[in-house]
Amino acid sequence: MFGMQRGLTDFVQEVTPHEVAHQWWGHIVGWTSYHDQWISEGFSDFSASLFLQYAQGGKIDRYQKFWESQRQAILEKNVFGIRHNDAGPIWMGLRLNSARTPGAYSRVAYNKGSYVLHMLRWMMYDQKTGDQKFIEMMRDFVKGHANENASTESFKAYVDKHMKPAMDLEGNKRMDWFFRQWVYGTEIPRYKMEYWYEPAGGSEVSLNFTITQSDVSPTFKMIVPVYVDFDGNIVRLGDVSISGSGTSQVYKLKLPRKPKRVIINYYNDVLATESLSSAK
Ligand SMILES: [Zn+2]
Repeated sequence: MFGMQRGLTDFVQEVTPHEVAHQWWGHIVGWTSYHDQWISEGFSDFSASLFLQYAQGGKIDRYQKFWESQRQAILEKNVFGIRHNDAGPIWMGLRLNSARTPGAYSRVAYNKGSYVLHMLRWMMYDQKTGDQKFIEMMRDFVKGHANENASTESFKAYVDKHMKPAMDLEGNKRMDWFFRQWVYGTEIPRYKMEYWYEPAGGSEVSLNFTITQSDVSPTFKMIVPVYVDFDGNIVRLGDVSISGSGTSQVYKLKLPRKPKRVIINYYNDVLATESLSSAK
């Protein structure tokens, strides 16, 4: 009984904001064709996560659980042993559902579609200004499409316009790399971080770490955020960009004291099969 009530609460808390969010995604901004329907469904799922983050009095655990369950929904295998993600890219829309991949449409267009915004949000996040850049982009996108239909490419134009310089991994001021991988592609990376300390005088320490990206083709790129936990206070140290499968160089950072732990993808910032970090 307790379990059922809990389940019902989760359902109401996630489904209600999703449907309310359709006031923007679906009603104010429509979609052009079935290829672009993820903009309505994925964005509504994403909006539900913001509701969870802000309606919980600043507690982050409901928000994190939400993204963890989105991640699992995308990576789960169907009855034929095929990961929902592998049915095809987001852009395939309703055609994702087939005899061998039933239910893939909702897992990919809704869950993975929401992850596209989630990943953009955390890439655009700034220590000083928080979500300001991301909010500006979304407002601009809504303004540009009010009572009109958006397409994947018309949304991308707004991402290109508002991206941070650090997101320009191909040096062409465009987010082609990101859309190619996450909207038009199906690759999912796996991450492993190894870290160790060296004394740096007094209570200061030098944090050393490497990040390994695997399961991806040589052209796959991503920005991986690194966080430290100072007694429950999570601080984002910075981001590492990695290309292809392999291990990064050793990064060294001086810290005022030894943190409790070092974490990558604390907010499930990057959709990954696994994000492990271990002290060497
Ligand atoms: Zn919906």
